Amino acid sequence: MLGHNCDQGAVRAFEIKLVSCLGYRPNLDNCVLCGLPVPGERVCFAPGQGGIVCEGCSPGVSNGLLVSRGSLETLKALLRWETGRIGQIRINPGAGGEIKSIMSKFIEYHIEKGIRSARFVNLLEKGFP
Ligand SMILES: [Zn+2]
Repeated sequence: MLGHNCDQGAVRAFEIKLVSCLGYRPNLDNCVLCGLPVPGERVCFAPGQGGIVCEGCSPGVSNGLLVSRGSLETLKALLRWETGRIGQIRINPGAGGEIKSIMSKFIEYHIEKGIRSARFVNLLEKGFP
């Protein structure tokens, strides 16, 4: 199981570092909408807004995902730690599942948006028919 967790950490770390390189580094420290700290054992992560949102702002978010504090802290470590140390991060099975679904929603949202805007730029360059 240990080996499995290490591999999972590497994949998640790759995902989060990749989206960060593409310019979509998620904000995991404060509410992306109002900038206040987000306390509590469960936190709302909004892929479209690009990070966590506080309880006050979450009603205005349509696609928020509730994640545990533990998953959030693991995600922060995956984002910040150098690749060589990622193997030291222990991901428990619950957090692993949550992080996987957050990252897939986050990637889906931003990469798809990127692809759509790339198509749009193409269209502009070629000129409308
Ligand atoms: Zn807020």
